[in-house]
Amino acid sequence: MKTALEWKKYYSSPEFRERYIYDENDLGVTCTDSGTSFKLWSPSADSVTLNLYHEGSGGEAYIHIPMEKEDKGVWSWLSGENMHGVYYDYSLSFEGESVCSADPYAYACGINGRRSMAVDLKKTDPEGWKNDRAPEKGTEQIIYELHVKEFSWDPSGGFPEPYRGKYKAFTCQDTTLFGDGIHPTGMRYMKELGVTHVQIMPAYDYGSVNEGGKDTEFNWGYDPVNYNVPEGSYSTDPEHGEVRIREMKEMIQALHSQGFRVIMDVVYNHTYSLDSWFQRTAPWYFYRVFDDGRISNGSACGNDVASEREMCAKYILESVLYWTEEYHIDGFRFDLMGLLDVNLMNRIRRELDARYGKGEKILFGEPWAAAETAMEGNAVPALKKNIMLLDENIGMFCDDTRDAVKGSALKIKRPGFINGASGKENDIVQSARAWCATSCGSTDEDSDSVTTVKAPSQVITYVSAHDNQTLWDKLAETLPEADEAERMRLNRMAAAIYMTCQGSLFFLSGEEFARTKNGLEDSFNAPIALNRLDWKQAWENQSLVEYYKGLIALRTRLPGLCDKSARASKRISNVETSEGLVSFEVDNRSETGCQKWNRLKIVYNGTREYRRVEVKENGWMILCDGEDSRLWASAKYAGKDLQAEPQSVLILGRLAEQSVGGTGGVAAGVTEETAEKETWEKQAV
Ligand code: CA
Repeated sequence: MKTALEWKKYYSSPEFRERYIYDENDLGVTCTDSGTSFKLWSPSADSVTLNLYHEGSGGEAYIHIPMEKEDKGVWSWLSGENMHGVYYDYSLSFEGESVCSADPYAYACGINGRRSMAVDLKKTDPEGWKNDRAPEKGTEQIIYELHVKEFSWDPSGGFPEPYRGKYKAFTCQDTTLFGDGIHPTGMRYMKELGVTHVQIMPAYDYGSVNEGGKDTEFNWGYDPVNYNVPEGSYSTDPEHGEVRIREMKEMIQALHSQGFRVIMDVVYNHTYSLDSWFQRTAPWYFYRVFDDGRISNGSACGNDVASEREMCAKYILESVLYWTEEYHIDGFRFDLMGLLDVNLMNRIRRELDARYGKGEKILFGEPWAAAETAMEGNAVPALKKNIMLLDENIGMFCDDTRDAVKGSALKIKRPGFINGASGKENDIVQSARAWCATSCGSTDEDSDSVTTVKAPSQVITYVSAHDNQTLWDKLAETLPEADEAERMRLNRMAAAIYMTCQGSLFFLSGEEFARTKNGLEDSFNAPIALNRLDWKQAWENQSLVEYYKGLIALRTRLPGLCDKSARASKRISNVETSEGLVSFEVDNRSETGCQKWNRLKIVYNGTREYRRVEVKENGWMILCDGEDSRLWASAKYAGKDLQAEPQSVLILGRLAEQSVGGTGGVAAGVTEETAEKETWEKQAV
C-alpha cells in the first residue's frame, strides 16, 4: 500500500482531480418503492463487494454482490425492490489487501453503527411530519445548549422511565418535578424560560458509548462514526435502524411545536478514529497529512478531516443539507470551525440561503483549533482572525467577551470584570458592541480594538458552554471566599451583562439555575450523575431562574440590542468607564418606529460600592436592577438621584414620546419628542 504522503500526492494531482471528482448527489443508498440503489465513491479500490444481512450486527451475510465500477470512482448496484430494513456493508480490495467497511454515506445503521442499513426515509416520518414547521424567527436568537441524555436522565425531571435520557423525552410536554404536577420541568420549563433555539449537543451517531451498554454510560459525543445517522443510545431501540431516525424526528417535531428552533452540533473536523469508513473506502483522501508525513492533529482527537478537498467538501455540504431537508434542522454549530476552510463555510451559507432564504438557517462555530493543521493549497482556515472573510451570517463564539466578563475559561483562577479583575472595562464596552467598533466605522475612543467583525450577526455572546467550568463553578473557583449570596449576585450580573450585548445570545442549559459540575472543567466522559440536569436544583434556585426569564423577556423588547446589522454599534454612545464601572446609552428605536423605550442607559457596576448614575434628563424608567429583571413590566419612573447597587447591572429606558409623569418625571421637550418619532431606519440612512 502507498504511504499517507504518496496518497496525498496522488490525490492532489490534476489527473486524479480530472478523473475522480463526482458531481452527482446520489452517493449512499436511495431506497423507494421503485427500487434501491447502492453507490459508493471509492476511486482507488480494485474491487468492491456489497454484503447484505438480515441483522444490524452479528450473523453472516446472506449474499455477496459484486459492484459495478462506473465513472468517477463510483461503484454501484441497483435492485428493483424496496430494500428498506436490509443491513449492508462493503468488502473492498486495494492492491491485494482487503478491508470491510460500513457506508460513509449511510442514512441508517445497526447497533453501534458498524453496519449500514438501507432505509426508505418516508417510512421513518412520525405522524404529522409533513406539517412540521419551525416557529417564526423572532427578533433575537437566544440559544440554549442541551445534551439529549442530560435533559431527562435525572428522576427529578418526572419523565416516564423508558424515555429518560432518550429523544422520546422531548415528546413529554407536561413533565413536573418528580411528577408533582406543580413545578414544570423539561419542555414546559424551557418554554417559560423564553429561549428561542435549542442546540442539541452531538446527536449524529458517535462511537464513545456502547449503544447496547448500561444506561449510565455517558459521553458528550464529539466522536463521529456515521455523520448522517442519529446516535443510537438516545433511541428506545438501537437494534433497529429506523427507530432512532423516527425518534429523532419526533424530538425535533416536539421542539418545533413548542416554539423552539433546533440547532445541531456538528463535528465535521475529525472522526472518532482514523480507522473510519472514510479511510477504509478512500485511504487518506479525507484526512490531512503534513509534508513530513506526520498525521495532522489540529483537533487533538487524532485526525483532521480535509474539508478543502473537493469530495470532502461535497460530503460535508451534502450532509448539512441532508439534516436540514430530512430532519428539518434550523441551524448548525460547527465544532472547531477553525479546522474547516472559509470557502466551504461560505459555500454552505450560500446553499442554505438559496434554499431557505437569506440567514434563515443559523450558522456559527468555534473559530479556533486545538493545534496546527495541515490544510492544503490556498485554503484559508475559518479562524477568528479570518472572520472578515466569512459571510456576515456565519457567527463565531466570542471567547473575548466570555473571558472579559468572568475570566479566562482556560486559566481557571483568573478573574474577569465581574469577579475582581481590573482593566477589563474596554473589553466590556467592546463586548456590548459585539466587537464591531472599528469595522462598523465608529471613530470613537474604542476604535483600536484588535478583533473586528462585520456585524453583530457574526458574534455569539456567551459566558458558559459545555466546555470548561460552568459559570457557577468559575465564580466559586475565582472567589472562594464569597458567600452564596455574592455568587448569586455575580451570576445575575454576568447574565445581565452578556444579555445586554449586541451579539446573538447563547448559554449552557442550567446556567440559569447555578448548574455545577463540582468544578470539573471538561466533563465529556464524567458520569451522567454529574452531567445530568438536576431539576430539583432548578426549583431550589428559582429566584435566579426568574432573573434570567425577566432578562430574556426584556431583551426581545430591546431592538437596539437585537439589531444585527453592520451599523448596530452606532447605536451605542456616551460610553463612560472608570475602575470597575462601565456605562453607555443605546439608541433603541426600531425600524418600525413603535418602540416603547427610545433610549436605554446601561450601567455595569463591578465594584463592591454603590455608584451614582448621572442622567441628564427626566423620564427614565428602571427596567432592570441587580435584583429584579422585571421592573420594566411595572412602569415606574426613576428619579434623578439614581444609584447602581454594588456588583450589579442597572438598565434604564426612556419613554418614546408621551408626556411622562410619576416621581421625578417631567415631560420631554417638544422638539426632542418630534425628533424621537423618527425611526432608527430613517435616522441611520
Ligand atoms: Ca453510536
